[in-house]
Amino acid sequence: MAKILTFKKATARDRNRGKTLCSSNFHRWQVVTEKRFDVKHGRLVTVLRCTRCGKERLELL
Ligand SMILES: [Zn+2]
Repeated sequence: MAKILTFKKATARDRNRGKTLCSSNFHRWQVVTEKRFDVKHGRLVTVLRCTRCGKERLELL
């Protein structure tokens, strides 16, 4: 029982730390699609998404 409570506290703390990082613009980027052709930029781009807050950004190649 004590172990489960400790685990839950650690998880909540991790989640809060993640939000703090995101608000400080330190996102956890994960590749969504590699080398997609973006018409707007007229070149290949890689779409990245933050696994914590869901924000997306494009990486121009
Ligand atoms: Zn984020």
